[in-house]
Amino acid sequence: MRYSLSGTLYWVGTILGLSIAFLISGQIGLLIMLISYLQAFAFYRCPHCRFRLSRVIMLSPNCCPKCGDDLTELDKRN
Ligand SMILES: [Zn+2]
Repeated sequence: MRYSLSGTLYWVGTILGLSIAFLISGQIGLLIMLISYLQAFAFYRCPHCRFRLSRVIMLSPNCCPKCGDDLTELDKRN
């Protein structure tokens, strides 16, 4: 899975999970958030050095905070 898709799923899953937890069911909401965190843990990483991008607060970082690789260029190439 591409890191950018994983990052999108991470934020969508967090927001969707929180919404469902408050509006419908706490358990289903927590399950959705847990799944989104687990997939982000596995796939939301720098394609170059495997640094976990979920540690970065920004929605989609332009460059890797560890190796400094340009992630926008990597996204265009892939
Ligand atoms: Zn990196």
